[in-house]
Amino acid sequence: MERKFFHFYKDLKEVLIDGQTIKHRVEELALQITEDYADCQPHLIGILKGANVFHSDLIRAIHLPVTVDFIAVSSYGNSSQTTGEVRILKDPDESLAGKDVLLVEDIVDTGLTLNYLVEILRKREPKSLRIITLLSKPSRRKVDIHVDYIGFEIPDKFVVGYGLDYGQQYRNLPFLAIVEI
Ligand code: 5GP
Repeated sequence: MERKFFHFYKDLKEVLIDGQTIKHRVEELALQITEDYADCQPHLIGILKGANVFHSDLIRAIHLPVTVDFIAVSSYGNSSQTTGEVRILKDPDESLAGKDVLLVEDIVDTGLTLNYLVEILRKREPKSLRIITLLSKPSRRKVDIHVDYIGFEIPDKFVVGYGLDYGQQYRNLPFLAIVEI
């Protein structure tokens, strides 16, 4: 199945994590969240656009009532290098006050984005604030940020698919792949 995408996208190098493995891991994470939030209602805020696919699969695998929202921040644009500059482009629609917020990220690289966001969002007085990321590149970390749930730790390669892009391409791949940049 993956092969057909390699035909369209010539820059794809190799599959890093196949669709079935992602599905199983998302279900495991959702089970853990279902247990951890058994006595409350998590409010899952997806960070656009990269976490969109992960967010929508995750919420459907959680066996609890949940509420959802989105936030958009500036990211790398068409470059693969972080500038460290992060801007909020779209605020969540709902107030965070008193909510058990779970921030849903696609990938934690240097950690700068999340570090900034968490600082801002804490000021909005959520009852609790936790972070879940599908992917983490621990070797790239520049700030010491605590991430509560991690799908996969991956090496320092640029990955696309399952919501993650390179120049706005590749988001629809149902697997994660390494791209030649
Ligand atoms: P950080 O602030 O942790 O350095 O960067 C986080 C953001 O960088 C992610 O939300 C994502 O937009 C982008 N990013 C970091 N590594 C990758 C990668 O390997 N692939 C893609 N597509 N985006 C990445």
